[in-house]
Amino acid sequence: RFITIEGGEGAGKSTLIRSLEQVLEARGLDVVTTREPGGTVLAEEIRNLVLHPPGETQWSALAEALLMNAARADHVEKKIAPALAAGKWVICDRFADSTRVYQGIGGVNDTMLQAMQAEVTKDAAPDITFILDGPVDELLQRRTARGTSDIFERRPIGFHTAVRERFLEIAKAAPDRCKVVDASRDPSRVLEDVLSVIDERVSA
Ligand code: C5P
Repeated sequence: RFITIEGGEGAGKSTLIRSLEQVLEARGLDVVTTREPGGTVLAEEIRNLVLHPPGETQWSALAEALLMNAARADHVEKKIAPALAAGKWVICDRFADSTRVYQGIGGVNDTMLQAMQAEVTKDAAPDITFILDGPVDELLQRRTARGTSDIFERRPIGFHTAVRERFLEIAKAAPDRCKVVDASRDPSRVLEDVLSVIDERVSA
């Protein structure tokens, strides 16, 4: 099973993933948690290049999209696809939807993003994608409490609103795969919702 967790800044992805991993492992499942961009040695190098470009330099959105997909290709080939083939559960913090959202907002053509994604993820299509959603100002407050760390975290509020809307559009267009979860609630409630969706799917 392949589960991806998506959402904007401060949505609580990391907290959810940690607790979800614990619950699934307690059930005796073999769980691999990983993240994007990153997850392999090479993809983590790309993550660093994308998130911390040297000096005052900046990537174009197209260059970012290509780098994200290069990182993803390595991640899928070396980590995700082998784990799935071995019968493990893979939980990934962000995946291809994030590229459609962030680089799409940056101006990259969605048809091209989807074409790249189809090629790169053909051996690893998520079974379930949880979109952690909530009012932008509430979620951003949590992120501020945590402290900021990279160039992407200093973006205007309008950007975060666009991210939220784009994730919701993607979810609407793929209702079988994507589940929108209200992430403004207590983390234990978020986990409960996520587990009930997983249990429903597994028994289905
Ligand atoms: O998941 P996390 O919040 O750590 O992501 C790190 C940063 O990378 C975020 O600010 C996110 O907006 C950005 N990102 C991006 N495009 C992607 C994936 C992540 O701009 N495709």
